[in-house]
Amino acid sequence: MDKIQMVDLVKQYQAIKNEVKNSMDEVLESAMFINGPQVKDFQTNLENYLNVKHVIPCANGTDALQIALMTLGLNPGDEIITVDFTFAATVEVVHLLGLKSRFVDVDYDSFTMNIDAMKKALTPNTKAIIPVHLYGQCTNMEEVLNFAKENNLYVIEDTAQAIGAEYTFSDGTKAKAGTMGTMGTTSFFPSKNLGCYGDGGAIFTNDDDLAYKMRGIVNHGMYQRYYHDEVGVNSRLDSLQAVVLNAKLKQLDNYNQQRKNAADYYDDKFKNHSSILIPKREKYSTHVFHQYTLRITNGKRDELNTYLAKKEIPSMIYYPVPLRKQKAYDTGDYIDSDFPNTNKLIDEVISLPMHTELSVEQLEYITSNVLEFFK
Ligand SMILES: *Cc1c(COP(=O)(O)O)cnc(C)c1O
Repeated sequence: MDKIQMVDLVKQYQAIKNEVKNSMDEVLESAMFINGPQVKDFQTNLENYLNVKHVIPCANGTDALQIALMTLGLNPGDEIITVDFTFAATVEVVHLLGLKSRFVDVDYDSFTMNIDAMKKALTPNTKAIIPVHLYGQCTNMEEVLNFAKENNLYVIEDTAQAIGAEYTFSDGTKAKAGTMGTMGTTSFFPSKNLGCYGDGGAIFTNDDDLAYKMRGIVNHGMYQRYYHDEVGVNSRLDSLQAVVLNAKLKQLDNYNQQRKNAADYYDDKFKNHSSILIPKREKYSTHVFHQYTLRITNGKRDELNTYLAKKEIPSMIYYPVPLRKQKAYDTGDYIDSDFPNTNKLIDEVISLPMHTELSVEQLEYITSNVLEFFK
């Protein structure tokens, strides 16, 4: 049996090696490293895949969030509602831009924004909501979008962990994660479901004016060379990364299916266990399993983590500290009892190996060891 990895990109590479190498050679021979035709191709390919009007490639998923916020013309002190239980990048950019974050609790079963908590966080200064489609499943977007519409708020979907997930509205219409809000953002960090071989990111929108503004912001605020209409940034996806993404985008649905197969295997082994809760699959969204995350309810999560490491099974705690308690973001004005679910999840969650290359033999080894721990 091959050594089990949290993410196995070496093996995944073998299947796309020739295509990637040949296309990379074209970039090297043409020396069009920045804004080469591969970037434009990828933009079009992703627009088609997502069925969205505009994809704006940029340098990484954190920049994508920052650029999305910069585009809205917000003012210092404007408030952004987002979740307390996510990767820090989501909120980092809010603070960088002098905006104010309002953290809210998540759902215990689906790990995404709790709708009641979101509604309670509204103040006259609220301007936007950033739902995070954590671990690969969409937030309850129908509720988020209705609330945003009623209160005139922007919605930026952080889709870094959920590219390819599909949402179904109550009237039956479907939309890809990241294409429902005012804007969606994603990351092509190597370990994401659609990852390149370095850093990369993108913003999605159906709004022509916002797209136009963003295409300038990513390029120093220039709409005409050396005329700077906006304060911008330098945030580009390079041609070599676009080559990798073009090859992998064709495989994305396959990749997500392989992840789902592994998740189905895990679910089946753990579903009736008295100390293990499997991730809930919501009716309104498909799940692309960026992470497969269990909740361990008997207080032995950390012991399990150590036990698995001894068996050479990697496992991770995403995330051990709520954002409102991080030194950088601790403003002191939150009440612990407003976050019952996050408070529980930080002690209970454990993510198991999840990638496109897991063999049945490896899955069997992982699941039997987890079950053995509880005996
Ligand atoms: C990975 C990630 C980001 C940031 O993406 P980078 O490309 O690493 O900057 C933002 N939000 C979430 C939820 C993420 O998982």
